[in-house]
Amino acid sequence: MTAPAGSAYDVRGLEPLDGFPFPVFVSPGGAARGRAVAERAARTVAWLENAVALPATPPLFVVGPENWEQVAAFPVYGMPHVELDRIVVGQRPAPFWTTVVDTITPHIDSAGLDRLRRAYGNEVDLGSFADLLVSHELTHLSHMGSTSWGDDGAVSLWMSELAANLGLHGYVHEVEPDQAERLETAFEVTWASPDGHWPVRDLPDMRDSLRGDGSNYVWFEFGLQVLAKRLWETAGVTALRRIAGALRGPALGFDQAEKLLDDLDPWVARAVREWPAFTPGRRPVGS
Ligand SMILES: [Zn+2]
Repeated sequence: MTAPAGSAYDVRGLEPLDGFPFPVFVSPGGAARGRAVAERAARTVAWLENAVALPATPPLFVVGPENWEQVAAFPVYGMPHVELDRIVVGQRPAPFWTTVVDTITPHIDSAGLDRLRRAYGNEVDLGSFADLLVSHELTHLSHMGSTSWGDDGAVSLWMSELAANLGLHGYVHEVEPDQAERLETAFEVTWASPDGHWPVRDLPDMRDSLRGDGSNYVWFEFGLQVLAKRLWETAGVTALRRIAGALRGPALGFDQAEKLLDDLDPWVARAVREWPAFTPGRRPVGS
């Protein structure tokens, strides 16, 4: 996700990690994981630079809950986010990942549970999924810094998250294909399960899902990852370039966003119109 610019950060007590093309800071004791995240970030930047225009990579913070407040621009621990002056990710998996798993587990069939366990272990720890999200955050840089971005328009939020998920999907498939199962299992199994227990479900209301512990927001992100997977398969890097380009321009209305998606893949345009009913078994909104 992206966070409103403006707040300062404080690096006191954090440890710098050398050897990366951007500054990296970690909580004490977190060097090994921080280094792994930073290495993925460096690979992602190298890949993204061939696809879209990017500003300079800001400092990367990989911090635990004890240091979250001093560097984060978003209050919920472990919710990865980016601004032009920082990327912040959790050093240990956030509680909302467990909430997501606990919410869907009673409603999924045994095949879905088997998939989750195969990808994330018998205890179903989404930490290895969360570790991939630095690539999503870096992709946000491809559309940040414009005058229109960050307005309160409902469309800019979900379109920017779709763009970031395209970068995440494209990066994993082209650079770390052995991570594809970890990337896709969480969102495919979650999105195939019933949605009645998520309080916010309509796409224009996505911003409201940020209230609470973050798990409802994750549900939206997972749905947009389903669409990003499809869009990458049908339109590839063209989809990322065109959506990032549109987000850098004047604020988009829903009709413009729908037309852009329709040009890329009519199935995805229909999916945003019928959200979240584009999955078999869901009913169209309002029916
Ligand atoms: Zn995002």
